[in-house]
Parts: sequence; C-alpha cells; structure tokens
Amino acid sequence: MILITEMIHPIGLDILSRYDDDVYYDPDLHQKPEALADRVALARALIVRNKTQVNAELIERAPYLRVVGRLGVGLDNIDQGVLQQRSVRLIVPQGANAVSVAEYVLGMAIAFQRRFPRMMSQLRQGQWIRDMSGGELAGKTLAVIGYGKAGQAVAIRAQAFGMKLRIYDPYAEVEDSWKTESFEEAVEGADIISLHVPLTPQTYHLINSLTLSLLHSHSLVINTSRGELIDELALLKALETEKLAGAVLDVREKEPPGPQDRLAMLPNVFSTPHIAGLTEDSQIAIARYVAEGVKEVLDSNL
Ligand code: NAD
Repeated sequence: MILITEMIHPIGLDILSRYDDDVYYDPDLHQKPEALADRVALARALIVRNKTQVNAELIERAPYLRVVGRLGVGLDNIDQGVLQQRSVRLIVPQGANAVSVAEYVLGMAIAFQRRFPRMMSQLRQGQWIRDMSGGELAGKTLAVIGYGKAGQAVAIRAQAFGMKLRIYDPYAEVEDSWKTESFEEAVEGADIISLHVPLTPQTYHLINSLTLSLLHSHSLVINTSRGELIDELALLKALETEKLAGAVLDVREKEPPGPQDRLAMLPNVFSTPHIAGLTEDSQIAIARYVAEGVKEVLDSNL
C-alpha cells in the first residue's frame, strides 16, 4: 500500500494511482492515531506533510515500509535517525517551494512598508486617506537568517529591489560582502529580519526578549520557517510596547493558534495560516517530485 496521510495535490495522487492500485489517501489521517497505526502496518510507502509524526513508534508499526515522501521541506516531524536504522529512504523536494516563500516574503515586506491592508480596510469603510508615511524597500537593510534554498531565493530578489543584505548562516557558503559572523551582527539595527532556518535545538526561540532588544523600533520581523523560532510572548510584549514596528507571521508556536490570538489581532501583525510555500505552482512541483521519487524507490531493489 501507498499511504498518504495529509493533503496532496491531485497530480501526485494521479501519478501514484496509475502506478499502484493500492493507494490509501486520507488527508486527515494524521489526526486519527489508531487508524494511522492500522494503515501504516500495511504500507510500503508513506507520504506526509508536516503534521504526521514519523517517529520510532510509528516506524515500529510499519514492517514493510521502504520509503517516506515529505510533501515539503521542513523535517522537524521526521526522525531521520530511525529511518536510517531501518534503511527507509526519505524523499524531500528540496527547494520546490523556495520561490513561493521568497515571493511571499518580498510581497509582505512591501505590503507592510506601504500599509496596503490598512488602506484597503479604510476604503471599504468609505475613507479616502492619502497616507504618505509608506516606505520603499530600496536602501533598507534586510537580515536573512539561514541561507538555504528559501534564504537564497529571498536574497536574490531583495538585491533586485536595491536592498542592503546581511546574511547569517554558519554552515553555508555566503558572499563575503553579505556574510555576518553572528546572528546578533546580522539583526542589530536591520530594517527587516527574515527567518529561513530549520527548527532545531539551536534555533528554538532564536527571537526572544534578549534578541528582540537588539532590533530597532522600526524593524519588521518575518517568520516563514517554524513558529517555535519565536518566543511569542516576548514578541507580543515588544509589539505592544512599540519596541518593534511589526511582524509577519506565517507560522505559529501553536497551529492553529486558537480564538484568543492576541498577536493576530494587532494591526501591525500580518498573519497567514502557514501558506508561504503553499501555491498551486509549488504544490504541483512538490507532488510530482515526491510521487516520482516514491515510484523510483519502490521499483528499485535498494
Ligand atoms: P534549507 O534546508 O534549504 O535551508 C536551511 C538553511 O538554514 C541551511 O543553509 C542551513 O545551513 C541553515 N541553518 C541551519 N541552522 C542554522 C542556524 N542555527 N543559524 C543559521 N543558519 C542555520 O531549507 P529552506 O528550503 O530554505 O527552508 C527553511 C525552513 O523554512 C525549513 O526548514 C522549513 O521549516 C521552513 N519552510 C516553511 C514553509 C512555509 O510554507 N511556511 C515553506 C518552506 C520551508
């Protein structure tokens, strides 16, 4: 069986259904632990997004499993060590949603600088207010934290907009003129900080009361990586006390954050439901890559 436990673009489902007549697809299966355990016991391939916890407990129940396909790039829900021990291959569509993420970041940065949402809501209320306090991206300093696929896609577009770049990633090759030696050096006084690191013990609460104190009161923080990179209580305090100009939050410590979401209620917070990398274009590319990768592993003798 090919088991798909979360939403997949129909193109991926079509490729897999033509290949194998035993495909089980339930986009909500990740929320049903008992049904998931029953199904995974028969699976040769398991395809997930970011909600299914692919850990030792699940893998133990999957004696026939040969391949896991991840419909996205963050791997914090997947225990790679356990997969290696069991010689289960992992298919990850590296970079397949980087352009969508980068366009989201630049789009939100412009929308924030130009105050578009506020003006649109004023117009809906019949108010024609020609506010001239908006700013340009050109000449502003952007700190990119993490210079992998998404960070690079953001940097190249920001450069085209005439922004000054500071990039912090101790593990990647970075152009000398952009590279900083520390996270603090990158963010101190930057106009916009955009996070593109995976969630690891080192990056958990990277933005906290201490690091927030390095930022300017006019700074904007953009998080499209993982909610846990930001201490949300510290962020709320910085925004409410005007120590920080705003935040763009595509990802949250708790998803969905629930009805009493004070952060999303603030006028200087632009929040979206974890969709930065989620476009029709990226989902087609991801579904194709994962479906073809899974087929290849199942066809091989590896
Ligand atoms: P990537 O693996 O290509 O790049 C991650 C980069 O972070 C690497 O270059 C790595 O060296 C660097 N890094 C790791 N630890 C670091 C640290 N402590 N300090 C500085 N740099 C560090 O991944 P990507 O495709 O660029 O995506 C980045 C993250 O964004 C993913 O892990 C995922 O969690 C998230 N993401 C979210 C969405 C969304 O829809 N919101 C979409 C795609 C990716």
